Amino acid sequence: LTGRGQGQDRIETLIALMARLPGLGPRSARRAVLHLLRKRALVMAPLAQVMAQVAAEARDCTVCGTITTGEICDICADPRRDAGLVCVVQDVGDLWAMERAGVYRGRYHVLGGLLSALDAVGPEDIGVPRLVARAAGLREVILALPATVEGQTTAHVLQEALAGQGVTLSALAQGVPMGGELDYLDDGTIGAALSARRIL
Ligand SMILES: [Zn+2]
Repeated sequence: LTGRGQGQDRIETLIALMARLPGLGPRSARRAVLHLLRKRALVMAPLAQVMAQVAAEARDCTVCGTITTGEICDICADPRRDAGLVCVVQDVGDLWAMERAGVYRGRYHVLGGLLSALDAVGPEDIGVPRLVARAAGLREVILALPATVEGQTTAHVLQEALAGQGVTLSALAQGVPMGGELDYLDDGTIGAALSARRIL
């Protein structure tokens, strides 16, 4: 038993890796790979090139913590974004959902997780000191965190950390769904939750 059985055909390896992607099972991975193989020059080669570049260059924005391929992300570098307004989100997917809704013109702080005594996640792990360091230039910090125990614990710790900094703290009117996936909310709901946010 040599050859294909031992995985010398990298196409099978590619299919197996693609099948691990969210929303893709073995059948759709096979379909996607077949499409790529048929469009090798037009789709597969440019995709492989950009993917290798992003894999090599992706890192956390030194200001907000989102994933970027530069030193500072496009949002933090954009002078048209309100630098006095920061929205705190659990992860990059939540930031992307807010951006997709197209209603928010401030900047972000991406936690990369929530405080959890169980998983030994502390304030430093979610960049609380980095947020406090930005506080001097801020008018308002909007919390867009899930209505879970971890979400509420995190909100409480952020509230204490920012107390006395002269920053207004608010929260989205509607709680973010379990797991912090703002992505599950439609754009109109995100907009309504933002404009009806409550001051804490
Ligand atoms: Zn940034």
